[in-house]
Amino acid sequence: MTDALISSAYSQALEVIASVEPRIADATRAELADQRSSLKLIASENYASPAVLLTMGTWLSDKYAEGTVGHRFYAGCQNVDTVESLAAEHARELFGAEYAYAQPHSGIDANLVAFWSILAHRVEGPWLEEAGAKNVNDLTEADWERLRNELGNQRLLGMSLDAGGHLTHGFRPNISGKMFHQQQYGTDPETGLLDYDVVRARAKEFKPLVLVAGYSAYPRRVNFAKMREIADEVGATLMVDMAHFAGLVAGKVFTGDENPVPHAHVVTTTTHKSLRGPRGGMVLATEEYAPSVDRGCPMVLGGPLSHVMAAKAVALAEARRPEFATYAKQVADNAQSLAEGFLSRGAKLVTGGTDNHLVLLDVTGFGLTGRQAESALLDAGVVTNRNSVPGDPNGAWYTSGIRFGTPALTTRGFGQDEFDRVAELVVDVLSRTQPGTTKTGGPSKATYVTEDGVADRTKAASAEMLDKFPLYPGLELS
Ligand code: PLP
Repeated sequence: MTDALISSAYSQALEVIASVEPRIADATRAELADQRSSLKLIASENYASPAVLLTMGTWLSDKYAEGTVGHRFYAGCQNVDTVESLAAEHARELFGAEYAYAQPHSGIDANLVAFWSILAHRVEGPWLEEAGAKNVNDLTEADWERLRNELGNQRLLGMSLDAGGHLTHGFRPNISGKMFHQQQYGTDPETGLLDYDVVRARAKEFKPLVLVAGYSAYPRRVNFAKMREIADEVGATLMVDMAHFAGLVAGKVFTGDENPVPHAHVVTTTTHKSLRGPRGGMVLATEEYAPSVDRGCPMVLGGPLSHVMAAKAVALAEARRPEFATYAKQVADNAQSLAEGFLSRGAKLVTGGTDNHLVLLDVTGFGLTGRQAESALLDAGVVTNRNSVPGDPNGAWYTSGIRFGTPALTTRGFGQDEFDRVAELVVDVLSRTQPGTTKTGGPSKATYVTEDGVADRTKAASAEMLDKFPLYPGLELS
């Protein structure tokens, strides 16, 4: 697609939007300007291609298509069938999966589909068989009561939030921590690394139905072959949530034991993080689990977002190109460079480094909370998010860490030198920031004071780098 075409497509689209609600057109323009002018280091974000973005803005959005390919509860779904089949086909081919389900609207939805599919396959199915019922419609009220008890009495073991797991991996405030009896595994208090012997011991004692692996903020690779061994030893279903690192799997940076697809029964993902697609989710599964995953709608989902499934197909087609593997390798190399940049300047990292796409900086060495560091960096045009560190003394709100990710700036073209410079800028801002005080003069976990001039200096230095690697080069809005 030529620059002129893309520029004209977006300029005209914004004019049409402005004719109805100009403030939305203005916010959309402003967001592009903000994204272009800041160092986006949020590990879960990326920049989807114009082809992916344009695919989302069509009339495919207008079609209801509850059901599955070829088996819809609405008429006239032939084009959505094409879209969904292509998204699933690209996903199967890209990841070498036996089955792919492209309908989940987000990562959380994908995990809900996975949980209920596992429950359907492992609990409801055998229960119905034993009760001599063909399906749930044959059950009496008393049967229902017993089935609900069975479904509500299952166990899930996942990685704890402060060790880097996700809310959906059994965290109490999330539905996953309420619908299952849950326990969590952490990381080694000394090294910050996952200890498979501890996970095994916990699994043997707790005997979960579902063992969840995967993370949002663990800066290391996971050995999924070992996780599968543990799951098999206790009769658990291994579910891997690869939302964060799907791009590294797609780009063949994670292979062998580090590739979850050949080892897990069910794999869930988002499509918008390192995979660089539209916002959405997806589930991959073995043949054994495919029939229950296929019932995601109506089990926990409503009508699929056909325009987003179309954009997933486009993004997955992009991820099957050789350039994507080069990108994924660069994402990992850049994270190494960022980590080394921090370490060589005396900063402390959780686990002492990284071997994936993210780096977790412990900011207590700067005398700051994560909240103070996040805000001071934002003032300087560096967009990150605060994150707990294992055993965090500041809790999940203020935190003691900042999470950095390389997928977005790598899409812009940043290489190792630029990421070393990013580390330099971050350390400069944080070492020139002091905690502030509360209204009554006590120590504050939220307020902070950065030396005069530091934010502007950092913005100017970032702008110099960002200008060399423009976001959506050639896209000019009239
Ligand atoms: N799973 C993991 C590991 C994540 O990191 C996230 C999001 O941050 C999700 C699931 C949820 O994704 P979504 O925000 O699309 O629901």
